[in-house]
Amino acid sequence: MRTIDSLDVTGRRVLVRADLNVPLDGDVITDDGRIRASVPTITALADRGARVIVCAHLGRPKGKVAPEFSLAPVAARLGELLGRPVRFASDVVGDSAREIAQGLADGEVALLENLRFEPGEESKDDAEREAFAGRLAELAELYVGDGFGAVHRKHASVYDVPKRLPHAAGGLIVAEVEVLKRLTEEPARPYAVVLGGAKVSDKLGVIANLLGKVDRLVVGGGMAYTFLAAQGHEVGNSLLQKDQLDQVRGFIAEADKRGVELVLPVDVLAATEFAEDAEYEVVEATAIPSDREGLDIGPKTRELFAGKLADAATVFWNGPMGVFEFDAFAGGTRAVAEALIAADAFTVVGGGDSAAAVRKLGLPEDGFSHISTGGGASLEYLEGKTLPGLAALKD
Ligand code: ADP
Ligand code: MG
Repeated sequence: MRTIDSLDVTGRRVLVRADLNVPLDGDVITDDGRIRASVPTITALADRGARVIVCAHLGRPKGKVAPEFSLAPVAARLGELLGRPVRFASDVVGDSAREIAQGLADGEVALLENLRFEPGEESKDDAEREAFAGRLAELAELYVGDGFGAVHRKHASVYDVPKRLPHAAGGLIVAEVEVLKRLTEEPARPYAVVLGGAKVSDKLGVIANLLGKVDRLVVGGGMAYTFLAAQGHEVGNSLLQKDQLDQVRGFIAEADKRGVELVLPVDVLAATEFAEDAEYEVVEATAIPSDREGLDIGPKTRELFAGKLADAATVFWNGPMGVFEFDAFAGGTRAVAEALIAADAFTVVGGGDSAAAVRKLGLPEDGFSHISTGGGASLEYLEGKTLPGLAALKD
């Protein structure tokens, strides 16, 4: 992959595909991690006299203009973080975008409105997607791919535009790929992976691939209940994906065959309902009452998991250990995060919610070797898939 150093950007319009997909509460940004991660590449380009046109998506407006998904609050925050004004286009490839793009002076920065307001961005129809890509490409002379969180998407701004313009990878993508290479090509051992989050079905591919690579697989969060159920235990009202039970039984057998240590919760916080103030008690993972649901890993499990990470040399963690959005059920996620911080290892956090949890819990981001901005993207890389956005930058 070419880096931005190889592009002659001075005085030229550079379209930067960034990942600015941040969580919002109304128009308040609750976690600006992805915006901050995008700043270095934009700054580097602007400092070199580029006319920077940033494009990004927010949420899932599904091809229609939806004010609640406007990037306007992001433009304001980006301006603050860059320490320079950001001109905001009220459309993606319309009059406003064209006027602003044409009017930029050297070193100035603009942000286009949400890419996903345009049906062409995510279209499965190649012609529709390419037509939109053509209009985006017309805004600029060069393209820089830096939205790591979107590189697993075959979307116009990620996949088709770089085919139309001279292009390079931004610093964020370069850094993310370097880390993922270290996790896949001869990782230092013992290599432990901690998986959590809501759905086991989101992570089937990565589990299948990792079983051939890791020494320990630690499973917590909502997906652990499908593992517990696969072993024949009652999980009450806990999150359970019945249709995945066979697959999970296969994983358990495969882990055994390959000598991968599979570590599951031994106790959980069993709550009366899915609520912030739900009553709960600590129960054995093998004895969850039928009218309760596990919303976090219990104290014994926290210790068990921390012990499995303490002497690891490489740790990849994706997915919260419990419903960390509720303070009462954030303790398991905190314990795992603290175990990563304490470990003398190469530690990587992947996943939007996991990274947000680290910040929400007030843990030091520099306590980890790397916090990835891309959940789905890093998982698909670890699954061994070809990521369209990376492939497009390589050509
Ligand atoms: P990431 O974005 O880091 O990849 P996921 O999106 O896979 O993580 O999962 C995050 C979600 O999983 C969180 O919203 C969290 O509340 C939920 N979750 C974790 N544990 C449980 C549980 N025991 N029951 C229900 N939901 C859970
Ligand atoms: Mg998530």
